[in-house]
Amino acid sequence: MMADGKGISEHVEKLRSLSFEIGTYRPPSEGGSASLLLRVSENCPWNRCTFCEMYKGHRFGYRPVEAVTADIDRVAAIRDEIRAVSSKLGMGGEMTREVGAALLAAGHDLIGNPGFVTVCNWLASGARTAFLQDADSMSMRPREFVAVLKHLRQTLSSLTRVTTYTRSKTLVKRKPEELRMIREAGLDRLHVGLETGDDEVLTLVDKGVTSAEQIEGGRKAVAAGFQVSMYWMPDLGGRERSRQHAEHTARVLSAINPHYIRSRPLVPRLGTPLFDEVAQGRLHLSSPRERLEELAVMIAGLEVSSKVCFDHAMNAWADRRGGLLFRQDYEGYQFPEEKPLLLERIREGLAVDEAMHVHARQLMAVRSL
Ligand code: SF4
Repeated sequence: MMADGKGISEHVEKLRSLSFEIGTYRPPSEGGSASLLLRVSENCPWNRCTFCEMYKGHRFGYRPVEAVTADIDRVAAIRDEIRAVSSKLGMGGEMTREVGAALLAAGHDLIGNPGFVTVCNWLASGARTAFLQDADSMSMRPREFVAVLKHLRQTLSSLTRVTTYTRSKTLVKRKPEELRMIREAGLDRLHVGLETGDDEVLTLVDKGVTSAEQIEGGRKAVAAGFQVSMYWMPDLGGRERSRQHAEHTARVLSAINPHYIRSRPLVPRLGTPLFDEVAQGRLHLSSPRERLEELAVMIAGLEVSSKVCFDHAMNAWADRRGGLLFRQDYEGYQFPEEKPLLLERIREGLAVDEAMHVHARQLMAVRSL
């Protein structure tokens, strides 16, 4: 029987009327597991880091709890429409290729509805994870955030992991009982941009936090029961401050011992103050080999039981056979067990000709386009 003969058009009509707010950014590890993206606030309340272009020109704003919970209800409504179509097609309510094809055959325009596409991908991946946007969800009033989380968990009960971005400075401001309340309401993982543990570099890039505050905020989050995923930025201090950047980053991360440590090598972005510093010769970027030397210092100094990850295309260094030096999966290298292995990989990379590293990076940059 044709799709329309099964009454699909009525569902397409409903799906056309349903949408919800989705922001632009999420960590790569949330894309790989096709997390549901939901916006609880808009843009970044700090918005001053000199290397960051993500929210420039956009004002920060909280979204009212009612607006966010209404969005969650719309996600559930989209899910239910898709499941109804699946059942009518004999697919048992599952999101399959056939269900997607039937819906798009009956309503080509649905492909231009980001809410529909996001929920399809989320259902196809098992509807298990959600990522709350934008840059600092923990800056919401704790009671309001808890209300959002409770509604989310009750309405979308298939979720097994809910995560978000936040800032170390915001974690410092939160009381331990507030953090525990938010954790218990259903937020599992925090993604935090540490960038560097060096106070001079923190000041230069206007991160708005000290290394002591990073340690305090990170420890509070771990103590409250969150999985903490921290991002550091190789080469953020340039050649000038490479060693201090590596040593103090290792010091701060060792003091926090987060669950994940993720490497995000510096890429100067056009339109940022840091880009101008590089262009005007005030900051000198390291070569791929020099970045590996910095990495060697940082990794050697890490005393953690974290997973150390290179899950980004910019972590492209070559091994002696021309392959990638590091695994790029989201779970990375388990420390301390795999620390010797990782140090051995770095030594291998340091023995490789610089041109091979340049080639590896160009190849990954093209692949990630
Ligand atoms: S806190 Fe994060 S999102 Fe905000 S400006 Fe800094 S790096 Fe960008």
